[in-house]
Amino acid sequence: MNTGQQGSGKVFHSDGLRFECNRCSHCCRHDPGLVFLSEEDIIRIPRYLRIGRAEFLARYCRHVDIGTVRRITIDERPNYDCVFWSESGCEIYEVRPLQCRSYPFWASVVDSAESWQAESEHCPGMNTGALHSSDEIDDWLLQARQRRLIELDPPYRGG
Ligand code: SF4
Ligand code: SF4
Repeated sequence: MNTGQQGSGKVFHSDGLRFECNRCSHCCRHDPGLVFLSEEDIIRIPRYLRIGRAEFLARYCRHVDIGTVRRITIDERPNYDCVFWSESGCEIYEVRPLQCRSYPFWASVVDSAESWQAESEHCPGMNTGALHSSDEIDDWLLQARQRRLIELDPPYRGG
């Protein structure tokens, strides 16, 4: 099992990691993706859009089966662009889901030098710009662990 521990006992991101988003939008469009929503996300985003939770779920979300549970993800257009992506960028940028805000500091990405380098093939902002400290990265990882992802047992009973 890869715990992210390096030979010295350090984790891969102990010395911080460089990342600066250049707003290329690659992570928001072109390819299929899943942006899972937490309880906090589906409070903040509908409030920002000035619509109710049920309308938000119906207009902008879909359900996906993840093994034994169903989760809610932001919907995509037929070309796989996120429904909130526009030429001017993310239309809900201020309240975008934690999954988007915390990228690329995901556990699966900062797990090792290899996983970080592999992800950087898809994100030109990685290994550029500001150095993000180990503490900052740990905080993103903690927020991800603590978020309450919406999980539904069929039949769907959210909304
Ligand atoms: S792929 Fe990376 S650089 Fe491009 S928009 Fe996404 S986070 Fe920013
Ligand atoms: S919600 Fe915004 S940041 Fe997240 S994938 Fe969609 S357009 Fe990109």
